[in-house]
Amino acid sequence: MFRTAIPLGRWAGIAVRAHWSVLLVLFLITDLLATAVLPRAAPGADPGWYWVTGVLTAAGFLASLLLHELSHAAVARRHGVGGKRITLWMLGGAADLKAEPSTPKADFRIAVAGPIASVLIGVAGLGAAVLVAGVAHPLPVSGLAWLGAGNILLGVFNLLPGAPLDGGRMLRAAVWSRRGDRARAGAVAERFGQALGAAFGIAGLAQLLLFGRFSGLWLILLGWFLIFAAQAEFAAGPLRERLGGVRVGEIMNPSPTVVPGWWTVDAFADHAAGAGRDRVFPVLSFDGVPVGVVSLGDLIRVPADARRATRVADVARKDQTVTVVGVDARVTELMNRVFLRPGRDLVLVTESSALAGVVGAGDLARAVELATLRHRPRAAAPHSPGDPR
Ligand SMILES: [Zn+2]
Repeated sequence: MFRTAIPLGRWAGIAVRAHWSVLLVLFLITDLLATAVLPRAAPGADPGWYWVTGVLTAAGFLASLLLHELSHAAVARRHGVGGKRITLWMLGGAADLKAEPSTPKADFRIAVAGPIASVLIGVAGLGAAVLVAGVAHPLPVSGLAWLGAGNILLGVFNLLPGAPLDGGRMLRAAVWSRRGDRARAGAVAERFGQALGAAFGIAGLAQLLLFGRFSGLWLILLGWFLIFAAQAEFAAGPLRERLGGVRVGEIMNPSPTVVPGWWTVDAFADHAAGAGRDRVFPVLSFDGVPVGVVSLGDLIRVPADARRATRVADVARKDQTVTVVGVDARVTELMNRVFLRPGRDLVLVTESSALAGVVGAGDLARAVELATLRHRPRAAAPHSPGDPR
């Protein structure tokens, strides 16, 4: 849902981006502070200073949004599902994890970390305001106090039980822990999120129409975003959920035709013509370690008169374009990482550094199709080509 986001750099390997709606928040907060909050809290100052304090306070608020997200990411890393990227947006932010938490407990802890950070920042802001209240100019003191109150409000708002808010994730973890079904728990949290969004929308509409308050527009926007985000999560949910527990070892081809790297292109082409139906092959080193991938297409590119003298290992792709994963890796993780071209690419699956099998484009497509049919692919037993099956 955050396709139009501005990159802000990387922190500890996590890409941080801002959705355009953050600019709207920055402007709204600055405007609110400079024209209403600060003139009332510290009257009589130069109008320019209201704007300066307003911009600084709004920027501080965005920085604390980032801290909120980073604490999600830090706890996630502790539970072995490090952060991939963070997107700031008008409702706080979204931390995309590299994988889904595997237990309700981890899910809950990752979710609750953000609101805890916000409330702590809020308390620190209010505390600092109280400390400097006697000595500093009322303008920065008001800014600090607003920052503190804003963060506490943000923390509490994010605890509301509905996806995509942190409270929604906590609700999901709780239902997951009680019922043992993560997919259904996610659906419950998303329905709560949509109900929450609808409630905000109705409250905003009532404010606007019954009381003529334009702040109602803000609530309507908030409600619309909540419903939109809950639906986006819902749409991405079921297939991922169903594929969620499936491991690479369950969908791989455990007995592919392999190429000893020292064979010549000609010798291997002859062998491949009679062995199986594969078009892409794992290449093994002399001691049986997988070193790369080669396709019949790669072999075609070797000039005909050189095929008797060229070794397959010299033609094989061995760079970063070849993906190597363990048998226990999750299929969803793999799908996030690679795009496999049929007849050209292959994922090498290893078990204690020996080749355990391969995953091609067809294997991934099959896993998705089976998941859509609500069936789980079963691991094929390794067999030699002549075995009756
Ligand atoms: Zn959060």
